[in-house]
Amino acid sequence: MAKKIKSKNIAVAERASKCPFCPSTDSASHWSMKCVAIPRSVEIRKVAIQFILDLIVSVVAEHSEQDFKVSLRHLGDDHLSFFVGDRKSSDVWGGPLDR
Ligand SMILES: [Zn+2]
Repeated sequence: MAKKIKSKNIAVAERASKCPFCPSTDSASHWSMKCVAIPRSVEIRKVAIQFILDLIVSVVAEHSEQDFKVSLRHLGDDHLSFFVGDRKSSDVWGGPLDR
């Protein structure tokens, strides 16, 4: 009896550890950054990244000083690298820390 309960608990834990929408192993970073099985999440990521890109372009365009433009572009690219670059991090999708 105990063995049956134990194997049932393992099965439940294994099911809970997988993404319910795709075969990937579940994790907060998978859900927020990678899962493509949820159309709403894919759309939210796409819109958010485009918003940031547009924001970088518009803020850079507001300045005429070349040094400001270069610095703002670097800052924007640095921030963007957490969304689409090799420094991708699920933390940027969590919003401000002082919520
Ligand atoms: Zn998934």
